[in-house]
Amino acid sequence: MTISQRDNAVIWHPYTQMQTALPAVGIVRGEGAHIYDESGKRYIDAIASWWTNIHGHAHPYLSAAIASQSSVLEHLIFAGFTHEPAVKLAEMLVKILPDNQKRVFYSDNGSTAVEVALKMAFQYWQNKGTPRTKVIALSEAYHGDTFGAMSVSGRSAFTQMFESLMFSTAYVGAPIPGQEASALKELKSILAEEANNIAAFIYEPLVQGTAGMRMMNPEGLDALISLCRRHGILCIADEVMTGFGRTGKMFASEYLEQKPDLVCLSKGLTGGMMALGVTTSTAEIYEAFLSENKMKTFFHGHSYTANPIACSAGIASLELFEKEATLQKIARITLLNKTFAEKIKSHKTLSAVRHLGVILALELETTEGNSYFNTIRDEAYAWFLEKGILMRPLGNIIYIMPPYCIQENDLHSVYQAVTEFLDRKKC
Ligand SMILES: *Cc1c(COP(=O)(O)O)cnc(C)c1O
Repeated sequence: MTISQRDNAVIWHPYTQMQTALPAVGIVRGEGAHIYDESGKRYIDAIASWWTNIHGHAHPYLSAAIASQSSVLEHLIFAGFTHEPAVKLAEMLVKILPDNQKRVFYSDNGSTAVEVALKMAFQYWQNKGTPRTKVIALSEAYHGDTFGAMSVSGRSAFTQMFESLMFSTAYVGAPIPGQEASALKELKSILAEEANNIAAFIYEPLVQGTAGMRMMNPEGLDALISLCRRHGILCIADEVMTGFGRTGKMFASEYLEQKPDLVCLSKGLTGGMMALGVTTSTAEIYEAFLSENKMKTFFHGHSYTANPIACSAGIASLELFEKEATLQKIARITLLNKTFAEKIKSHKTLSAVRHLGVILALELETTEGNSYFNTIRDEAYAWFLEKGILMRPLGNIIYIMPPYCIQENDLHSVYQAVTEFLDRKKC
């Protein structure tokens, strides 16, 4: 039996209607921007395996790092004990993050990084003796699938069955081009009502990934952050997707004047090698938890907090940014994307084209409205897979976010296939 057939008997996949889904493709190995299935077919991974991969699959430098770490110290309780990989990765992160970020708290993934930031924000106010109980988020935001992260995400088909169980959040429109003024107005009206009850403002800096690579105007977002800041509201930058070069800079926050108080990282943090999450904070937030009073402690942790193997992958990934001049590779992809975007933007089937850094999104004209369940999605997914390209459209939005090691000819194959798909839709 194939891996795919055996899978069908025992596995329950994420985001998958198991009754109607196509059989899962059994992959046996990956190399660079390619993955190979059990029949030997090669696919270009155009979406970096759910936005995690950075330097390419099975990168020898990363494999060597985790192999060597696993034979020295594989895991360790992280309360009362520490280790070199956790300390070194934290030192490296603090050096490259916005310079007000001073403390690193480890967890396991993007959702937990967000949970930690939210709990830190709520408890910060509690510890200061002026509790605040609500968060402001951007509409259509996505911050993860655990309850806290869902509660601050935009309400959607993914969250509706849990609606009654989530805490309530105040929403402001994202400052996408043309909507900056209305976003600011919405924020002002929320603040006029309940500024003193708002603990935090959470946002995906510049790009709302899951919402369909919706891109914001940096000045518009700066205006929102700066207004929140004037009310003492803690600002949480969810850089889980945008971190580590996706937008052309190491962190999307670098495009902004306003610095975040808390930053959430995961996905590209380990180069796509291991599951790891990080929440960083300012000294001021950290200090609000220092006390003789035990109740001011941040009572949160996970069994695998700061796993040494995962941290060693994070270190190796950051080292590769230097060794392989990764930011230059990103700049090259950015340029190619821009050229392709210019060429394709007047295509009859498209209603919008957006690009920033390695992210390129094409919004297909549709009568069904922009939705994750748009029928174009299943059709495009199967069509690209057949062509040997892993794409996972967000409804009617086709996007690419390749590993930075992708070769120019592969990128051109992807552009070519996209053009063909659009041409097919035209007639
Ligand atoms: C993917 C994502 C998350 C959730 O991360 P997981 O590791 O999947 O839990 C949170 N925020 C953003 C912006 C993301 O893109």
